[in-house]
Amino acid sequence: MQQFTRRNFLQASVCAALAGGPAYRSAAAVANSAAWVDRRVYGPFQVVAAFPLQGLDRELADLGYLQGELQRTLAMRPPQQAVDVYLSADERSHKQFLQSRFPRIPYRRALYVQSGGRGAVYAFDHRDLPTDLRHECTHALLHTDLAMVPLWLDEGLAEYFEPPLAQRAFHHEHLRTLRWNLRLGMVRSIASLESIHSLDDMGAEEYRYAWAWAHFMLHGPVAAHRALTGFLADIRRGNPPGVLSARLEQAVPEAEAQLVRHFKHWRRG
Ligand SMILES: [Zn+2]
Repeated sequence: MQQFTRRNFLQASVCAALAGGPAYRSAAAVANSAAWVDRRVYGPFQVVAAFPLQGLDRELADLGYLQGELQRTLAMRPPQQAVDVYLSADERSHKQFLQSRFPRIPYRRALYVQSGGRGAVYAFDHRDLPTDLRHECTHALLHTDLAMVPLWLDEGLAEYFEPPLAQRAFHHEHLRTLRWNLRLGMVRSIASLESIHSLDDMGAEEYRYAWAWAHFMLHGPVAAHRALTGFLADIRRGNPPGVLSARLEQAVPEAEAQLVRHFKHWRRG
């Protein structure tokens, strides 16, 4: 049952990047709409909500820390401008809001949209909203600093950062299933994930292995972390970055075997 819920979530909570996009009211006009009853700032995120945010304040404060975490672990630069976050009161009004702004984008439970150089996250009030927000706001922080991020890596990092900080390294819900997969000899290479270019081809398994490789590069051998940050730095500088799988294979020989070993021994000491 949990797996089913998860898959629903994974397929529903994805990002969408728009180049241009349809004409719509300016961000300022939308943010000033009377529908919003609360507005708060958490780090680079300007949150407006159609419901009182008081009960979510502690969870939302994570968004401010998220930026610091991406800076510390991936050398991401803070956004040059604020990222808007629009929180509808319920799914129906969220759907209507998205439909009015982006009639051509398939419906998502939560999404990040970059348009005209400005990023915005859209979601609604429900039990897993804080998780959705950390996921989508990770996309926002990656895309405000980098001209492009490979799809699998974008999702792998968003998955990695979506739990609260205290659960991120050791208690992600992918961990248990992944360990079973690895025990059965099921490993997906980075190269196989790099060949995916559409979110439609990212299923639960692809998200799980994208997360696994992100975890490996953040918590595994130092050389793997260096390969990741070097790759992101080249994108930031506008240098052709090549593919991360080739860099990783050079930095960490037999990377797949090392990934298996990494998770076999991964537990809080
Ligand atoms: Zn995503």
